[in-house]
Amino acid sequence: MSNSTSESSQGDLGNYIAGQFTAVDPSLTRLDDRNPATGELLATVPLSGSAEVDVAVVAARAAFPAWRSTPPMVRARAVMKLREALDANRDELARLVTTDMGKTFDDAFSEVGRGIESVEHACSIPVLMKGENLEGIARGVDVDLIRQPVGVVAAITPFNFPAMIPLWFLPYAIACGNTFILKPSEQDPLTSMRIMELVDSIEEIPNGVVNLINGGRDAVEGLLEHPGVDAISFVGSAATARIIASRSAENGKRCQALGGAKNSMVLMPDADPKLMVNGVLGSAFGAAGQRCLAGSIAVLVGSEAEQDRTLALVTEAAAKLVTGNGADPATDVCPLVTPASRERVEGEIAAAEADGCSIVLDGRRDGGAAGAELGPTIIDGAGPDHKLIREELFGPVLAVTRAKDLAEALEFVNGSRYGNASVIFTSSGGHAREYRFGVEAGMVGVNVGVAAPVAWFPFSGWKDSIDGDLHANGDDAVRFYTRTKVITSRW
Ligand code: NAD
Repeated sequence: MSNSTSESSQGDLGNYIAGQFTAVDPSLTRLDDRNPATGELLATVPLSGSAEVDVAVVAARAAFPAWRSTPPMVRARAVMKLREALDANRDELARLVTTDMGKTFDDAFSEVGRGIESVEHACSIPVLMKGENLEGIARGVDVDLIRQPVGVVAAITPFNFPAMIPLWFLPYAIACGNTFILKPSEQDPLTSMRIMELVDSIEEIPNGVVNLINGGRDAVEGLLEHPGVDAISFVGSAATARIIASRSAENGKRCQALGGAKNSMVLMPDADPKLMVNGVLGSAFGAAGQRCLAGSIAVLVGSEAEQDRTLALVTEAAAKLVTGNGADPATDVCPLVTPASRERVEGEIAAAEADGCSIVLDGRRDGGAAGAELGPTIIDGAGPDHKLIREELFGPVLAVTRAKDLAEALEFVNGSRYGNASVIFTSSGGHAREYRFGVEAGMVGVNVGVAAPVAWFPFSGWKDSIDGDLHANGDDAVRFYTRTKVITSRW
C-alpha cells in the first residue's frame, strides 16, 4: 500500500514499485502522452532504463517467497478483490481508454469487460493449479505432479488494448504465486497506472507482488537482460515479438510473444447480407483497424457479378460510417493513436494508388482536431504479393481480393505468413465446416467479424502471429506461469 500518490496516474508519471508510486530520475527522457482525438497533453511518460528495472526486480524478488507460500485460495481471494475493484471502476477505466488510446467508449467498455473476465478466470486458480498423480508406478512407488510458480515474471504490452492486455497476464501471474512487473505501452500508460492504484488499494496484495515500469525499448532491454526475471509475456508487432522471443531464449527466460496479424474475411455469396456487412465493418474499421483481430482483407467469393454485389454492399455501408472523437457517441471510426500513425497509413494508401490499385472508398481527410483521424478506406486490385495484402497496416483500410470458390479462398488465406485470425460469412454449414477444418489461423469466426478472446480459452494465434507455444488466457496461462515438478516417492 502506498503512502504517497503524488506521482500516480496523471501529470509527470513515475513508476509503481514495492507498493509505492515512485518519482524517477529527473534526467530521464520523457514522452508526451496526448489524447488522440483532441491533442490535449495528458501526461509525460518517463523512459525508464535498466536502473529502474533493477529496483522493480529487486522488489518483486523480495516479495516472491512469502507470496508463493500464501495458500492458492488466499491468493485467489486477493484476485477476487481486484475483480471487484475493476468492476466498480469499469466506467472510469473505459473513459480512460477512450481518452488515452482513442477508441469509442462502447468499444473501451467491452475491452475492460474482457479484461475483467480474465481476472474472473484466474479466481479459479485453486482448481486450475491442481496437479496429477499415479499410484503404484512400481511396487510401493507413487508419482505426483505439482505446479509451482515460475518466479518473477514480466509483461510487455501494446498500445491498442491498454486495459485488456495487461489483464491477460497480471491476474494469472499473481494467482499462480509469481510476482509481476508490467511494462505498458509508452503511448498510453494511463489505464495501467489506474489499475496499479486499484491494486494498491487491495491490502491482500502485498507490496512488491505487482509493479509497473514506464518506458520503451530501454526498459524492455532491462527486463530481457536482468537475471532476476524468469519469464516474459509479450504482445505487440510481429517484428518486436521475434526480437523478444529470441532475446529471451538467449537469456534463458521462458517466453510467450504474441505478434501481429493480417486477417482475411471470406465473404461467400450465400452469406446473410446484413450479418456480413455489420461483421465486416466492425472488424475492418472498429478501433480504426487497430486490432490484432481486425479483418483487413475481404476475400470476395463467387462469380464476378456476385463478387461485385458483395463489394457494393460493403462499400455503401462503410461510406455511411462516422469518423471522429471516440468520446462522441455518434462516432463509428475513432482516430488513430497518433497523427504519425495516420500519416504512415495514408502513405500506404498513396503507395497502393501509385501501384495502380483502385481506391473504392477514400477515407483521407483533414485529420480532425489532433490530425489523427482517417476515415474507412477500401482498396481493390492489389496483387497477391502487394504489401497491402501481405503486411499489417494497422489502420482503417480494407483490401479486397477475389476467389472463384471456397477452395481458392482457403488457398489464398493460408498463403499468409500470419495466422492470428480469419472469419467466414456463409449460410452454408458445409462451407463453414470446410473452412474451420482447413484454415490456418488460431482464432476463427463463423458469421462473427471479430473472433474475440474469451478468457476461459487460450488466445490462439498461429504461425508468425506468435513466437512461443503457450498462449495468453485459458489453461495456457496457468501452464505458462507454473513449472511442473514430478515427485517419485517410496515409503
Ligand atoms: P509494438 O511492437 O510497437 O510495441 C509493443 C511493446 O513493445 C511496447 O510496450 C513497446 O514499448 C515495446 N517495444 C516496441 N519496440 C520494441 C523494440 N524494438 N524492442 C523492445 N521493445 C519494444 O506494438 P504496438 O504498436 O504497441 O501494438 C500494435 C501491434 O500489436 C500490432 O502489430 C498488433 O497486431 C499487435 N497485437 C497483437 C495481439 C495478439 O494477441 N497477437 C494483440 C494486440 C496487439
